[in-house]
Parts: sequence; structure tokens; C-alpha cells
Amino acid sequence: MKRFLLKIEGIVQGVGFRPFVYNQAISLSLKGWIKNSSQGVYIDIQGEEENLDRFIYNLEDKHPSLAKIENIIIYEQELADYNGFQIKESEMKGEKITLISPDMAVCEECIKDITTPTNKRYKYPFTNCTNCGPRFSIIKAIPYDRANTTMKKFNMCGDCHKEYSDSSNRRFHAQPNACKECGPHIWIEDCYGTKVGLDDVLGWTRQRLKEGKIFAIKGLGGFHLVCDAENEEAVNLLRDRKNRPDKPFAVMINHIDTVKKYCRVNMKEEKILTGSRKPIVILEQNNDYDLPQCIAPNQSTLGVMLPYTPLHHLLFQGDIEVLVMTSANVHGLPLEYENESAVEKLGHIVDYFLQHNRDIQMPIDDSIVRVVDNEIRMIRRARGYAPEPIKKDNVKEILALGSNMKNTFCIAKDNFLFLSQHNGDLENIETAEHYKNNIEHYKNIFRFSPKYIACDMHPSYTSSEYASDSLLPRVEVQHHHAHIVSCLAENNIERKVIGIAYDGTGYGIDGKLWGGEFLLCDTKEFTRLGHLNYIKMPGGQMAIKEPWRMAVSFIHRMIEYSDYSMREQLKQLLLKLYGKKSIGVMTLIDAEINCPKTSSMGRFFDAAASIIGGRDIISYEGQAAIELESIMDRNCNEFYNYDVDREKIYIINTEKIIYSIIKDKIAGVNNKIMSAKFHNTIVKFSKDICKFIREDTGINEVALSGGVFQNTFLLKQLAAELANEEFVVYTNKLIPANDGGLALGQIIIANEIINK
Ligand code: ZN
Ligand code: ZN
Ligand code: FE
Repeated sequence: MKRFLLKIEGIVQGVGFRPFVYNQAISLSLKGWIKNSSQGVYIDIQGEEENLDRFIYNLEDKHPSLAKIENIIIYEQELADYNGFQIKESEMKGEKITLISPDMAVCEECIKDITTPTNKRYKYPFTNCTNCGPRFSIIKAIPYDRANTTMKKFNMCGDCHKEYSDSSNRRFHAQPNACKECGPHIWIEDCYGTKVGLDDVLGWTRQRLKEGKIFAIKGLGGFHLVCDAENEEAVNLLRDRKNRPDKPFAVMINHIDTVKKYCRVNMKEEKILTGSRKPIVILEQNNDYDLPQCIAPNQSTLGVMLPYTPLHHLLFQGDIEVLVMTSANVHGLPLEYENESAVEKLGHIVDYFLQHNRDIQMPIDDSIVRVVDNEIRMIRRARGYAPEPIKKDNVKEILALGSNMKNTFCIAKDNFLFLSQHNGDLENIETAEHYKNNIEHYKNIFRFSPKYIACDMHPSYTSSEYASDSLLPRVEVQHHHAHIVSCLAENNIERKVIGIAYDGTGYGIDGKLWGGEFLLCDTKEFTRLGHLNYIKMPGGQMAIKEPWRMAVSFIHRMIEYSDYSMREQLKQLLLKLYGKKSIGVMTLIDAEINCPKTSSMGRFFDAAASIIGGRDIISYEGQAAIELESIMDRNCNEFYNYDVDREKIYIINTEKIIYSIIKDKIAGVNNKIMSAKFHNTIVKFSKDICKFIREDTGINEVALSGGVFQNTFLLKQLAAELANEEFVVYTNKLIPANDGGLALGQIIIANEIINK
């Protein structure tokens, strides 16, 4: 006989951990108790040594799927006089953090409940249990008890309470537990918010969807705009009303088998699609793809998710297979998540609202991932992932404010880093407010008060304004350094590496806009060892929305340096491609009015996409590059000649590459070939520069980060070719390579600097 006191740290509250432990103890004839505390879960356990070993083994190996054990500390105790196993009252005190589970997709057992006619939860859209359902999105405060969630207003009926109190039940202490008798319900409103009286809300909704009507459906983390994806007219109507001409819509598909009708799905992708987090997964369309082109114009991919709430499952009970499901917001504004506000803001977009009365405390978008090289690649980290922490020793209490685009922030406390969910682009008052509210919420639920602030160096980021409002000491972090460190962090690397940061733009230490950078860096400091040559961005921000301006800027440079005959040819080409407006932009460049200089890889892509593919104006970020990648001929191995100048550092001469593209263009070379040559060229010079730097420094490890690495070909090919040259290559996986991962890099660099 022995007795142990176990302290379990990790996500062990609100995930069915206590009933699991209770059942384990009973089945192994062990005695003692279990108690939740703000420090974690404590288990006092006594019995045969063999059974105790088995018990501890099972804790680690057989725990409920949502639980995540970070650490088990074992203290041996004197034998005590227990006569059973008991679940003790929670004890919450002190400022220690409680880990909160992300929202999880409905589990198989709950799906069985809602599809079994004899079950009391048959067709009930808010069915959940300790293994599934809402968590983070309904929590108002900690500890995680029903009274601290938006479920407080529903009093459990006798039956539900019985389940909730029965430690052998799947719904034991399932805080959002509910049924038809006592829980939330759904109803329909028209576009003015007037209730439509109906018996069969979901049947009626299906019928209207089939007719081509557009709905806003309230879900787990906010509203979705929904229409029948097989109805081209409906999809186009939604595009018109939402004023979203090109950006692809995600779809929800009833079943994994239906997904395979339209897309190629490998094992890894299938596992993610059907797992308990249920993000949107970007898949390649297959040869039988015949959904309307307007769902994802000019794309060879489709963003797909499977139903993840009971409501979704019930919606697909009829003959609907594929629904467009896109975040419900007005262009550029935050996700709608409150009933009245949704009607006010979305009434002009939708025909009907499918409402419910379980309030959303913390809105959260669908996560978006892709699989590249058989690894998950996070594009938007939100539902199902946030606020799961990253472990990190010796952290100070820091708030990192993140980027302006695709914002996330990050807080550091108690050896954990919490990267927030995607907060959107901080481009207006509404998103900035939303951002500040989310920071306050995190401070509250994690009992966090920052002692330091980390932010980007950019002088006019909205996120950084938050820093100047605060009196706390602040660490300013260079944008691309933060990108590379986000990648180092998730690969557990602290030593010096060669970092390749390719993205749109970020503020450089010389005041110019960087974005095609080779850094020699570790988690504390960096040196810039190479970059794309600087080129003017005519019109500043305008040049980001209008890629043709970048093309003109490149051609302008060539005209300056060309001989007479070439000069005339270039001028002709300019007029042919862009008409008279190009002359205006040339004047702007000559006069150096609003022409910041940039070394951005994103802008280099824009210029190429405009010249090759004619994508002159974009309606969503990254559009030009995404379309350019989608047309490339993957069998073409050719590339353009390029120069790398060695001044003090390595400078890639991008003009020479654009010049070759133009020669191809004049010669009438196929777009697909030009796109392939362009992509191959980037891989080639990137690899060359790594080799030069290795010769100079002896450093053999390369980290790739920045939004441009969402380009699948570039990521895959560059990683492969570097590996061929015997480099060790690190890439982002669960942390976005785009600006959504920036806050993590910022917090780690700031922590190093503060700790020095
Ligand atoms: Zn469940
Ligand atoms: Zn009930
Ligand atoms: Fe960036």
C-alpha cells in the first residue's frame, strides 16, 4: 500500500477530467479524493502500488480527449484512513492561471443523441457534453463554472441536473449542459428582425436555402452568412450584397465522402477535417470539381469544413450537401455575434436570420489551415485552437500587441504564452475597439496585468498606439525579426540561424518598408545580411491595392537605364498594358511624391502578377500572388537569370528578373511558363544567398517565415532544395507564418531583452 498526492497541471478543468479520474480510481480500488484548484487539479490517492502505477499511467495515456496534461508532480504521503473516493469542492484562490479549453466540435456520442428519435435530445441543437461543445466563447470569468458563463440564465431541469451531478455520467459538470426543456432554442427572423412563427425551423430553413435565399446563422463563435453552394445565382447574390467580388468563400460540406467528390483529400487532411477542432482546410480541387466557379474565383483550391455544432448537423439532415459559410461581417468590420447588432448590420445582406439565445461572450472566427509537406500550416488561428497556450520557461508578464493586419496579441504569464485568436485587420475604429475589448477579456480571464509591452517598430500601427497609451516599459521589435522568431519558437530553437522573411511590408530600422529579408538572428537580436533591392511604391498604400503600380515602378527603372531602342519598346509596352494612367504614375515616381521605398517580396510578386497575369487591381490581400501561383506550370524547371550584388550585404537585383519577364511577355511566352519561371527564380536566388551566408558565417540552419510562405510551391520547393544542400530548415506549423504569428515572435524577443 502507498499513498500519493498528485498535482496535475494543464487543461484539466471543464473537459471531463474529474469523472474520468473518479471512474479510474473506483475501477482500480483506489481511495482518496480529487479537487480542482486555481493551481491545477489535486488528487490524493491510496492503494496497491501496482494499481497506483496503472492509475498514473492511465492519467497520461487514457485521459479525456480535450484534456491536455502538461505536468504531473508526485509527492509520497503517509498512509491515511480513507474509505472511498470522493470529488471535493473546487478551491479557487490566488493569481495563478487557469487554462481554458478552446471550443470543440460536437462529439460522436452527442451526434448519436440528436439523431436518435427516442433520445431526449433528439434534434436538439445545443446538445453537448464534457467532451465537446462551447468553452472559451461562453466564458465570462473564471473559475469555469456555469454561473460564470453565458449559460447562467438557463436553469437546468431535473433531468439535466441529475446528469450534471452524476460523476459516472458523460455530462458530469458539463457547464453548458442543456436540453429542450431547459436550454437555449432557435428561431427565425426576417431581415428586419421580425420573428417568423414556425414549427419546423430547420426544415423551413433548408427549403428557403434551396430556393436561393441567404441566411445569417448564429453559430458557436459568431454569425455565418450562408447560402446553397450549388446554387450559382445565390452565391453571386451573396457576393453582390456583401460587396465581395473575388475573395473565396469557405464551404461547409455535410460529410467527408462528399468532400472527396470535389477535392483531393490526403490522410493528414482527412484527420484534420474530421478531428475535434474542425477548422477550414484548404484543399486542392479534383478533376471532377463542378461547384460554381464563383465560390472561389480563379482558384485551384477550396476552403472546406465539416459540420461542427449540433445545429450544423441538423441543418444537413435534408438534401443539402454543400453550403457557403462565410464569417458574417460588414466588409472590414469585426465578426457579428450579437442578435440585435447582427440584424442592424447584416439586414441588407441576408433574407433571414437563424437566431438563438445562447449568448456569445467572446466572438471567434473559424480557423483556417492547409497541409503542406504533410504538416499542418495555420493560416488563421482561432476557433478550436485559441486560447491553447504555448509552454515557455522564465517568462515575464508581457503583453505583445502584434501586427496591424491579421492581428493577434499575445500574453505571457506563469510559464505560458497565450496567443489570442485572430482579431482581423485593425483598419478602423470598430476593429480597434474589438481588439482592445479582447485584450481586456484576456487580462480578466487569465488574471493578467502586464508589466511590459512589446510592439512593432512601425510608428503608425493602431496596435502600437495602445502601447503609447500605456505607461509601462516598452520593447519595440522589428517586424521580420519577429516573424523569424515566431518560427524559431515553435521549433524550440534559440541559437543563431539564417532567417528568410518574405512578406508584404514591415517597418525596417532604416525607416524603409522591408519585406524580402535575409537575417542572421536568434531569439534576441538580428543583423540584416541581405534583401531585395529597394523599389519605389508609387502611391504608398495605393500600390498595395493596385499591383499595376508596382509593375510601372519596375518598368520605370528599366527605362532610366535602357538604351534608346529598348526605351521606346518599354514605353510602348507600358501604354499597351496600362494605358495613359501609367504616365501619371511615372510622373509621381519622377517627382518622388508619396513613393516610399520597399524591399518587399509581396510587392515583387504583385509586379510579376500584373505583368504576367494581368491582375492589376486586387480586392483582397494576397490575391495577385495567389492567382499567379494557381496558374503555374509545375512541370517547368526553367528560371530567369538574376544578379546578386555583394555590397556590404547581399542585394538581389529584382529589376533584372522583371526585365526578363517583359522580354518573355513581348515574345508571347505562355503565362503558366512565366509564372513557373518566376517562382523557380525566387527559390534559386534564396538558396544561393543561404549558401553565401553559410560560407561567411558557418551557420547551417535556415528558418522560413512571413506571409509569402503561404505560397505552397515556394515553401515546399525552397525547403526541399535547402535540405538538398544539407541545410536544416525550420518552418511555421501551428503558428501562422503571416502576421497572425507576429505577436508570439514579439513576446519572445521582448522577454529575452528584458531578462538579459
Ligand atoms: Zn459530446
Ligand atoms: Zn434540461
Ligand atoms: Fe509581416
